[in-house]
Amino acid sequence: MSFSLKTIPLHQSFLELGEQFLSEVKPTPFKTESNLIHFNKNAAKLLDLKEGIEEEQFFVDIFSGKQALQNAKPFAMLYAGHQFGQLNPQLGDGRAIIIAEMHNKNNQKWELQLKGSGLTPYSRDGDGRAVLRSTIREYLCSEAMHGLNIPTTRALCMTGSEDEVYRENIETGAILTRLAPSHVRFGSFEIFYYRHQYDHIRTLADFVIEHHYPELLSETNPYLALLTEVIKRTAKLIAQWQSVGFAHGVMNTDNMSILGLTLDYGPYRFLDDYEPGYICNHSDYQGRYAFEQQPSIGLFNLSCFAQALLPLIDKSPDKSAEMAKQKLEKYQTIFISDFADLMRLKLGLIESYNEDQHLVEDLLELMKNDHVDYTILFRKLCDFITKDINNPDSNNNAAIRDIFIQRDQFDQWANRYQQRLIKEGSNDKQRSIKMKRVNPKYILRNYMAEVAIKKAEEEKDYSEIDRLFKLLQNPFAEQPENEIYAGLPPDWSREISVSCSS
Ligand code: AMP
Ligand code: MG
Repeated sequence: MSFSLKTIPLHQSFLELGEQFLSEVKPTPFKTESNLIHFNKNAAKLLDLKEGIEEEQFFVDIFSGKQALQNAKPFAMLYAGHQFGQLNPQLGDGRAIIIAEMHNKNNQKWELQLKGSGLTPYSRDGDGRAVLRSTIREYLCSEAMHGLNIPTTRALCMTGSEDEVYRENIETGAILTRLAPSHVRFGSFEIFYYRHQYDHIRTLADFVIEHHYPELLSETNPYLALLTEVIKRTAKLIAQWQSVGFAHGVMNTDNMSILGLTLDYGPYRFLDDYEPGYICNHSDYQGRYAFEQQPSIGLFNLSCFAQALLPLIDKSPDKSAEMAKQKLEKYQTIFISDFADLMRLKLGLIESYNEDQHLVEDLLELMKNDHVDYTILFRKLCDFITKDINNPDSNNNAAIRDIFIQRDQFDQWANRYQQRLIKEGSNDKQRSIKMKRVNPKYILRNYMAEVAIKKAEEEKDYSEIDRLFKLLQNPFAEQPENEIYAGLPPDWSREISVSCSS
């Protein structure tokens, strides 16, 4: 069974929560003609859309906001959020409109959201639009994250226009069709906590549990169980970000998914050199969202979410706070354990010893001091050769060693790594194969997105978007024809500066 857009059955679960939670609003079409910039076949499969659907004019019309799906009731979601640590009591989708909810044949729920489709009641001072540049960045990165097996919202397609959108420069408007089982965020709960509308918190929590965490319904305290589950998923997500060197850039609570998905790609960046203090958002003056701060910001954000759940957890406020606190206290342990597991996999270690933590930390310290490229180093380590016992002076690991400036320090570390591998009887060949499944060869470096953006903006040439899109779907594969993307970034890429919302 596959769907055509004209007959697709729509669902309205979130919409049924009513106007306290959302505002019905229609997308505003572009003034100029719109075109399809890129289409994600794999995402269309998630929705069981029929093959070739992207060639129909109706497809472009729907996903550029010009036409509505039959019986659709598009809406923008209401939420609040802690932005850079400060509560903003009312936000909401200022430039995103959910145009449909669909269920595929496996009964998976998908919300289809147009991002950049015009004003909503929550637009505040914004214009409701998204520029082509930021749309391409989100489109490519959400697919890259998926390729890395990191939970994320997906993207179905991008449409563009000639409409002028005013940012620091005049740019053109584009629309990303974002897909997620739910776009509910931590901030969706916070808004009702600060408005003292505790019944609404309960309604929303019940909705999220029923539709997205049904296994929690049988728990004695489903709300506490929801908190526990969200803590686990968030800790795991951030551990995954840290393990691939991904800096999100704007971890406000309105950008934290209730499902533990990477949500809202703004000024994000994959690290080139391993620089733990890296700040990717040029307006983040305090470095609140620096790469190395992400795990602790995760806890801050979860605390905001937990606070919003307090009225549901127990009748006694003291007891409720105590129960939530106990759950939050587990976050750090969960994060550390998830991160350790991921880093052990990256080093090709099967067994687990206490010393592993130091092995990882010391490698990262060396990489930081020597400005070593994070992705390249870990990929090269996949070919680490434990020394030949018959020829102990052989230096098989020169290609890795040469990356470092302080080579004697690397040698010391390599010796420890070698001992550790020998301890578990590690086989070089088998380990290499396994390590290459978790250490990507290709990541979306900022310069790569920048080249694709320039071509799209200046020449309407979308071929580089397509090339990167395909490349990043298989980041662990060798892809010899794409070797160029596996190298160090060009020097000019250091100058790229990305701001918050665009
Ligand atoms: P973000 O930083 O993209 O997560 O956005 C934070 C808030 O600002 C959200 O409520 C967005 O919907 C809103 N917003 C961002 N950009 C715009 C825009 N151009 N027009 C209207 N609202 C916007
Ligand atoms: Mg946002």
